[in-house]
This record gives sequence, structure tokens and C-alpha cells, in this order.
Amino acid sequence: MSLIVQKFGGSSVKDAERLRHVAGIITEYYDAGNDMVVVVSAQGKTTDELIAKAKEISDRPGGREMDMLMSTGEQISASLLVMVLNAMGYSAISLTGWQAGFLTDSNHTRSRIRHINKERLENELDKKNIVVVTGFQGINRYDDITTLGRGGSDTSAVALAAALGASRCQIYTDVDGVYTADPRLVENAVKLNEITYDEMLELASLGAKVLHNRSVEMAKKYNVQLEVLSSLERKPGTIVKEVVKMEKMLIKGVAKDDNVARISLVGLPDKPGIAFKVFSLLASRKINVDIILQSVGHDGTKDILFTIAESEKEAAAEALREIAPAIGIQNVTADSGISKVSIVGAGMESNPGVAAKMFEALGEANINIHMISTSEIKISVLIDKEMGSKAVLAIHDKFAI
Ligand code: ADP
Ligand code: ASP
Ligand code: MG
Repeated sequence: MSLIVQKFGGSSVKDAERLRHVAGIITEYYDAGNDMVVVVSAQGKTTDELIAKAKEISDRPGGREMDMLMSTGEQISASLLVMVLNAMGYSAISLTGWQAGFLTDSNHTRSRIRHINKERLENELDKKNIVVVTGFQGINRYDDITTLGRGGSDTSAVALAAALGASRCQIYTDVDGVYTADPRLVENAVKLNEITYDEMLELASLGAKVLHNRSVEMAKKYNVQLEVLSSLERKPGTIVKEVVKMEKMLIKGVAKDDNVARISLVGLPDKPGIAFKVFSLLASRKINVDIILQSVGHDGTKDILFTIAESEKEAAAEALREIAPAIGIQNVTADSGISKVSIVGAGMESNPGVAAKMFEALGEANINIHMISTSEIKISVLIDKEMGSKAVLAIHDKFAI
């Protein structure tokens, strides 16, 4: 007998019919003698709708109240799923994040899990209950509800699998695995049977929302083997693990991230310590900076351009405009309307020419590149947002993955 953690995303639990279908999957594993812990997301687009409600009231609602609001979505699916299981004659119980022992830090709307207090979970499992846990949430040390960032239910599931020593962690979703590109965008995307943690982490961080990036980070750290599979069709999915069979594929996937904003600081003094002042200010506001570009200095000044998440654009621009006079920044501009398109694959490390091939694809499609950033296993470019989908298709085609 072993413990299995299963996670079902929003579209997999969107209505009574889907909930019944999901209950069928869970009970099949339960009947085979496994202990079951199930993590659910909010139904369908519930989280988006909750956020829209808040935006009707305020442009910048406080994080604590946003968490209070957003966490309700998962509570609806968990209770309904347990009602379905009960109606089928199974004993099951729903637990909210705090009841399931999730302790997080206090960064509202993007908290990190610090610890899982397993006592209640283990008691319920001892009673042979199917335990259904609300994804995406916990409490901080002040007993306030926190959430883990959009898509965070995947991370709740992996954290539970790690804490409870589960034998399997299955992430059920609306596609049947991880593909070489978003299958909704690229018709001839190919399903991967396996992918390494490192490659999956890059893809997830670069915009392939099929897995929350922190869930992959945590799976790697605690060696939790993940399986991404369809909640609709019964077929093998994609396994995410440390080492995979060698394949000839040069790159594993193309990802697109539209949640990108660019900040341009024009006319900074060209002297030591300026970059430190700018980026330490952003760090103190907990704003993550992604790609940074600095111009060659001229006439005693230089320009710095960098990208951040679109959602942090206003906060970053405001903070920088406040300190602009003190540092001597002549102009701060913040613009949206850009996408980051990336290729990922361990194969590129030992193959020169991968970058050239990517740029060739973009050139042929007449797409202009604004910024470039590379690491051992990925290359990213910033381009105009309206070109984003065209770029993904052109690059995917060029590599004929
Ligand atoms: P869930 O609600 O189950 O968490 P998500 O919407 O968060 O599901 O993630 C699944 C979606 O991720 C798919 O519907 C697909 O459009 C998108 N996606 C983006 N990139 C990829 C990829 N490389 N492989 C598979 N799906 C991807
Ligand atoms: N319901 C949350 C969201 O939509 C968490 C999740 O689905 O993983 O972001
Ligand atoms: Mg998701």
C-alpha cells in the first residue's frame, strides 16, 4: 500500500460532471488500496473572476484581502468534491490550507511554503479518509491566509508529496502532458514522454504554465517524480525527473511569456554604485528583475533597461520615479506590449549554432528582437507582443522538434 498525491486543475473540476469524473479517478486508486491525498484548484475561471471583483472596487487592493478573497475559490471545489465522494459511499474530508498544516511566509499573493504540519493530514489518513486539500494557500505566522501565486496548486501538491513521502505525485490537467510548445498555439507540437527537472523548470519559468515553476523547483529538491497527465483521457502523460533517456532533440521546447514589462532608465550618471542603488531598491520592494541591459556610456551618462513581471510595472516605476532626482536619473519609462519567447534544451550546451538558428527563424518571419538573454540551457528574446505567437510558430518550425 502506498500514498498517492493527485492534483486536479481548474478545468478538471469546473462543474458537477467533471467533479464526478475526477472522483472516478480518485476512487479507482483508493480501491486499489492506496492512501489518497487530493489537491484541487478553484473551478474553471473562478480565480480570475474573484480578481475581477476586487478590481471593480480598487485598482490596487491590499495583498492580505486579496488572499482572503482568492482562497475561497479552492474551498468551493474541495467541499463539492468531498460531497461527490460521500455520495458515492466513500469517506472523505476537505481541508483548507491551514487545516492541512501549510505554513508560509507573509508575502501575500506570492507566498512560499515554509513548513507543513502533518498531524491533521496523518490523522485523517489513519482513519482511511480520502483527504481533499485546497490548493494554492496556507497561513502565515500571524494566522492570516496567504496564497502561493497564480498556478500555485501544483506547488501545494508537490509539497504534500514531499512532506508525506508519497510514492507518486500526479498532476491532472486539460492537456495530456508536457509538449514542445503550448499545444493550443502550435498544432504540431509534440508530446514529451519524459523531461528533466532542469528543462521543465526553465520551461515553466519562461511561461509554459502547464506546471507552476516552484512546483518543479520543489520536486527537484525533494526528488519527487512528477507525472503530468490528462484528467479526461486515460493515457500515459509526461514524467518529470532527474535523468531522462538520451534523445536526439536539440531543444525540448519553445515557451512564451506575455506577463512582461520593460522599464527604461535614461540618462543615469555613468559612475560606480548607480546600478546597486537601482536594483537594491527593487529588491527591497521584493520586485524580481529578469533581463538587464546597460548601454555604453556617453557624455558621462548611461541608460539601463530591464524587464519585470507586468503585474509589478506600476510599483517599480513609482519607486524609481521617487528616487530618480536623488540618483540623477533623467527619465523613467515603463512599457508593456512585449513578449518573451524562449527555447529550452540541455542539448544546446554542446551544439553551437542554436542561437543563430533561432535568430534566423525570427529574421525570416520579419520579427525584430529588442533584447536577448542566454544561459546554459535556454535562449530568450524580447519582441513586440503582437508578434509573440508568430515567433513561437516560426521557431518551432525551424527546429522541427
Ligand atoms: P490547470 O488548470 O490544470 O492547472 P493550466 O491552465 O494551469 O491547467 O495549465 C495547462 C495549460 O498549459 C494547457 O491548457 C496549455 O494550454 C498550457 N501550456 C503552455 N505550454 C505548454 C506546454 N509546453 N505543454 C503543455 N501545455 C502547455
Ligand atoms: N486557482 C489558482 C489560480 O487560478 C491556483 C491554481 O489554479 O493553481 O491561479
Ligand atoms: Mg495550473
